[in-house]
Amino acid sequence: MVEASKFWFEKACSGCQCQELIHPWTKGCANATSSMFLSCIKGSYKFYAMVYLIQILMKGKKLTKKEVLEQSKLYLKSGIFGLTVAGSFVTLNCIFRNLFFSQFSYYNTVLLPCTISGLAVYFEPPHRRILVLNLFVNLVFEYWVRTLEMKGWLRRSPGRETLIFMFSSAVLFYLMRRERENDKRTPIFWFFTPPRVSKEVGEPIEGFEGRSHACPHEESCRSYILKGTAKLFGVGCAMTMLRTILPRILTPAKAFKSLKLSHLKLGLFFGGYIGIYRLVVCLLCRSHGRDSALFAVPAGFLAGLAFRAAPSTPIAFAPLTSSLQILSSWAYQKGMIPKNWPIVEVLYCLCQGLLFHARVMHEDVCPRYIINLMHTVTSSKADEIQSAFIEKMLKTM
Ligand SMILES: [Zn+2]
Ligand SMILES: [Zn+2]
Repeated sequence: MVEASKFWFEKACSGCQCQELIHPWTKGCANATSSMFLSCIKGSYKFYAMVYLIQILMKGKKLTKKEVLEQSKLYLKSGIFGLTVAGSFVTLNCIFRNLFFSQFSYYNTVLLPCTISGLAVYFEPPHRRILVLNLFVNLVFEYWVRTLEMKGWLRRSPGRETLIFMFSSAVLFYLMRRERENDKRTPIFWFFTPPRVSKEVGEPIEGFEGRSHACPHEESCRSYILKGTAKLFGVGCAMTMLRTILPRILTPAKAFKSLKLSHLKLGLFFGGYIGIYRLVVCLLCRSHGRDSALFAVPAGFLAGLAFRAAPSTPIAFAPLTSSLQILSSWAYQKGMIPKNWPIVEVLYCLCQGLLFHARVMHEDVCPRYIINLMHTVTSSKADEIQSAFIEKMLKTM
């Protein structure tokens, strides 16, 4: 893979015509724009079909008719968002080159147009903007960590990432339990939301039958813990199955044969995560005879151990990102950030510009998610652009 420095990029590409660099599949700019948008309509709706399916799976309950309608509307809007961002890359570049810059430069080729096209996030309703921003901030963290690793400044390992996940889960669960008391809660997409702190007080109890008065649930502790574990285990397995079977849907026999025991890992992680969390909170409630938001700290920390079953860099940093999100929403409500600043939208634009720039210029350290995202949403047009560009670079070097 090619790492494009500013020097080499400008040496190789600055004098190119736009059909050499931006739309290698066709000569005319108008033609390029329309074919790009067509590819992106297909790609964007395909991508969001997967996203919405997973989100519905994670909720883990049947949708009512009203919710189906609601989700379909959101799906349509998300599709428009995706296709506008991806489709406008070619158009913006052609326009910029013809109107303002006569040459391609390191910053105005990807960073600038992709920062501007981030404004399409306004097609999403405000609560989804926050979720999308959360995802992209998390990807920026991943990109930075990978960059530092490539420079030899730090090393990633499953053990270290598990430790990070454990510490940040402890913080996140504590913040989420405090956030439950808040009327204007920030939308967080997490495996599960811990229940609000129970106000009931009772005597400490021994053994493990029934429930303690202080427990934040109605049924017996045993069934509360087992039900949660089984449900999330099922969700984890279903997600892995979707990923494995869907691409081979036309050959069902082969698809089922390709399932392996290792596909249970994600289920073990999800199930273990909620199981350990609930177990620790219940044990603490039973021994103290009262509930406290602070119980989430040891519970979240130990639950983080389950991450070891299916370690991955983007998930390792996810609780950290979500904790930052809760803290900033508190800062926002306290008036520390002015209400009329479009902070979410601006941050999203910056993250998007940076990540898409990384996709083209620093493919080695770009998060996998962004590479797959651009491949799917543009129906592989992004890869065509990338290879034309790499060819140019190799010729010059
Ligand atoms: Zn053009
Ligand atoms: Zn309990």
